[in-house]
Amino acid sequence: MSKMTTALWMEVVARDGTCVPAVFGAWGACSGTTTVEHFWHRPQGVKGKRAPDDPLHLVRSCWGHNVDHPPSHEVRMKMREYIARYYGLDLEALLRGDYEVQ
Ligand SMILES: [Zn+2]
Repeated sequence: MSKMTTALWMEVVARDGTCVPAVFGAWGACSGTTTVEHFWHRPQGVKGKRAPDDPLHLVRSCWGHNVDHPPSHEVRMKMREYIARYYGLDLEALLRGDYEVQ
């Protein structure tokens, strides 16, 4: 069940202010409409499941950097570091998935 709401979408878009993958060096120029990109904290992700609809698992992204040129492993790691820093979370714990419901 998706918990994505307009309020959540607006919270993430306002928090980030711009296309986060572009800030962290994603390939190519920004293009298309504003979206929010889901990502898992654990670098290996969870097979076949989209990351949760909550601010810890979402960043603002243009369409191009979400769909056409999805973030590289390096950019995704910087997105995780950004979330850990923003919310004052321990990065090692975040990468272990301690902030994710299993
Ligand atoms: Zn972009």
